[in-house]
Amino acid sequence: MNAVAWLEPLRSSVPELRTAAWHHLEHFDAALGELFRAAPSPGDVVAWSAWLREARRSLAARGHLVPAGPAGILWQFLAGARDLDLRDCVGPGHGAMVLTHAPAATAEVWDRRLKAGELIGIAATERHGGSRIREITTRAIRANDGLWRLSGEKCWVSRLAEAAAFVVFVRGPNEHISAVVVDADDPNLEREMIEPAGLGGWTWGVLRLHDVCVDPSLALLGRPGCGLEVFHQHFARFRPLVTATALGAAAGVHSLVTGTLADRHRSGRLQRIRDNASITIGRTHTEITASLLAVLAAARLAEAGHPDAGTFARLGKAAGVDTAVRAVHDLAPLIGAAGFQRGHRIAKAQTDLAGLLYADGIHDSLYRAGGVSLLANASGPRRRSPSAAAA
Ligand SMILES: Cc1cc2nc3c(=O)[nH]c(=O)nc-3n(C[C@H](O)[C@H](O)[C@H](O)COP(=O)(O)OP(=O)(O)OC[C@H]3O[C@@H](n4cnc5c(N)ncnc54)[C@H](O)[C@@H]3O)c2cc1C
Repeated sequence: MNAVAWLEPLRSSVPELRTAAWHHLEHFDAALGELFRAAPSPGDVVAWSAWLREARRSLAARGHLVPAGPAGILWQFLAGARDLDLRDCVGPGHGAMVLTHAPAATAEVWDRRLKAGELIGIAATERHGGSRIREITTRAIRANDGLWRLSGEKCWVSRLAEAAAFVVFVRGPNEHISAVVVDADDPNLEREMIEPAGLGGWTWGVLRLHDVCVDPSLALLGRPGCGLEVFHQHFARFRPLVTATALGAAAGVHSLVTGTLADRHRSGRLQRIRDNASITIGRTHTEITASLLAVLAAARLAEAGHPDAGTFARLGKAAGVDTAVRAVHDLAPLIGAAGFQRGHRIAKAQTDLAGLLYADGIHDSLYRAGGVSLLANASGPRRRSPSAAAA
């Protein structure tokens, strides 16, 4: 069963799969399939990474632009079903922060560039711990000419070489946290690459800012000091997308394992399929589907600006990625040692999914923040903002 067939039974209950959107999805999946046939082995990291970048540009040039809103979830699911490294093959990604919060002229420029296939990264995490964004130390100092000079170090940054710009979170002149967009070709940026264990299609590592100069009237996202609001609003939308990609990867493994067992049965290599295999196939199918529906609900809440959107996105990401990890772990043995070969799709899915246990929010912190919000809601009618709940 391919990933489009996985979505088909959901059409009557998911408005984002009604006819026009469904045709777009089918075309997108066909284009992905065509590109994928010419993909190099992910083992050849340089060629694989170049192919991923080209796939993003090529899909953009062919007009495969993710519709705004929750429908993006389904596009990410299809991308993940081919390979988790395709998580950035469509959509504005972290560039959504620029489109939403940058001054109009800056947003316009980036709208064009993102639609042409360029990419924007995020630089938030620092050595003291990405789960404590309130403690960031990267500084923005206001110079006499009104420009901001940024200095500090960000770590574990993905898309380090591929991004055309980064949204950098800094402690601004007023001591509050702000978000600014920094061009990736700024000569005062220094990069140190680190080899990741998974998600190897995108470069990863340390980004150092040495007195990087930006004009806040062009580069600041939102008002000065509103960085945490930008961060939380963005992740309420972005985490469901990441989760959908992870669930797509698990669905891809599910289809591979199910198809392999069915072939072995058909060819007589297996006289009968044991119950433990059938049970695992049934259970993981429904767990992946349930998590996908949950992140669709989270995406709809974010789209509507619902006060619980952040909580749903945090809990949905942690639970959904955990579901994907567990599903692949449980499905892998059903086809035996074949899936343990280096470069096998299942082995790759396992290491790639492990990266998502950290990226875009480490899970114990997400569950904890979700629990804190739920307790706050239970303790009285007062609604707390997502940023307050995350504190
Ligand atoms: C593949 C990948 C891609 C990534 N891409 C990016 C990117 O593009 N941009 C970016 O900015 N970051 C990126 N990251 C970093 C990611 O966001 C962080 O890994 C994540 O936020 C967790 O931060 P940390 O790794 O520093 O762990 P920490 O925040 O140090 O957390 C480690 C553990 O310590 C716990 N902890 C925290 N505080 C306490 C306390 N007071 N007492 C006890 N325990 C505590 C946490 O709950 C957690 O269990 C990426 C990471 C990965 C793996």
